[in-house]
Amino acid sequence: MEERIVSSKLKEEEHQFENNLRPRALQEFIGQEKLKEKLDIYVKAALKRRESLDHVLLHGPPGLGKTTLAHIISREMEGNIKVTSGPAVERPGDLAALLTNLSPGDFLFIDEIHRLHRSVEEILYPALEDFALDIVIGKGPSARSLRLDLSPFTLIGATTRAGLISSPLRDRFGIVERIDFYSPADLHQILQRSAFLLGVELEEEGAAMIAQASRGTPRVANRLLKRVRDFAQIRAEGVISAGVAADALKILEVDELGLDSTDYQLLETIVHKFNGGPVGLETIAAAMNEEAGTIEEMYEPYLMKIGFLQRTSRGRVVSRKVLEHLKIQVDFFEQQSF
Ligand code: ADP
Repeated sequence: MEERIVSSKLKEEEHQFENNLRPRALQEFIGQEKLKEKLDIYVKAALKRRESLDHVLLHGPPGLGKTTLAHIISREMEGNIKVTSGPAVERPGDLAALLTNLSPGDFLFIDEIHRLHRSVEEILYPALEDFALDIVIGKGPSARSLRLDLSPFTLIGATTRAGLISSPLRDRFGIVERIDFYSPADLHQILQRSAFLLGVELEEEGAAMIAQASRGTPRVANRLLKRVRDFAQIRAEGVISAGVAADALKILEVDELGLDSTDYQLLETIVHKFNGGPVGLETIAAAMNEEAGTIEEMYEPYLMKIGFLQRTSRGRVVSRKVLEHLKIQVDFFEQQSF
């Protein structure tokens, strides 16, 4: 019980920390230039026509700014935003209540939209297409269907698993955009902005080192900054230099590419237990005693991005680069059957 209180307090603190660092306007949002340019045009055009914005689906790995962008879009459109998530909307009635409470021009943000229950999802179809709710009253032969009008609103859906969204739902989004990993240069800028907001002195080389270890992900960059700041305050009078960043990352067990102990465990499992692959995700998960979903959503995308891992129809395969990174003799690789 106590543990749960502590962990929910930690979550709350983390949430607060993220909110404080969240850019509030499109201009403050660093990187993703093409996406920003498109969103800027869509928002301005909708404002000019005095219409609500088309429904937006944002997809991409966690921590890249989907929630942040949803808030920015609603702010730029001068609309209110209500926030929920796929698993939180348990019954069709929950969604109906949310939808009927929206005012014209409001935004509804559904995070992890791929986890919406099918029966809930079906309520969304007429709501998205015609701004209407179809309600069935009564049961059996005397059941009647009633159509209820809704205010014109914009749904912003976010997902880490675009492939799991049913095509009827996907087809109802007018704007579908992918958010990609950030370059080290963008992360460098994000870190400098966050350091300024947190009042931490971050030297150029220190920022570059943390940026490199941030897995292309702003959330990871901000988290690392927070931890390195602790280290700098206790051991180095508050200044984050390259040396301080390097020492702190070592203590945090994060390598220069941003790989942590779970990444290592994942790569080593595939190399040592399964000859480098191909091996199925479920098999890897069982061998690691980790959830397949966590591996797939949190770890694999970045390993694929840096060319360490491939998803093939026969399973996961590691690349030669991994062996070099893990400092295993390439000879070992030659002896294997792949
Ligand atoms: P997601 O919804 O994709 O999981 P979030 O929108 O919650 O990601 O972003 C995670 C954190 O990263 C937030 O604290 C936000 O401040 C920061 N962040 C994300 N994208 C950017 C960006 N482009 N510029 C600055 N900070 C960003």
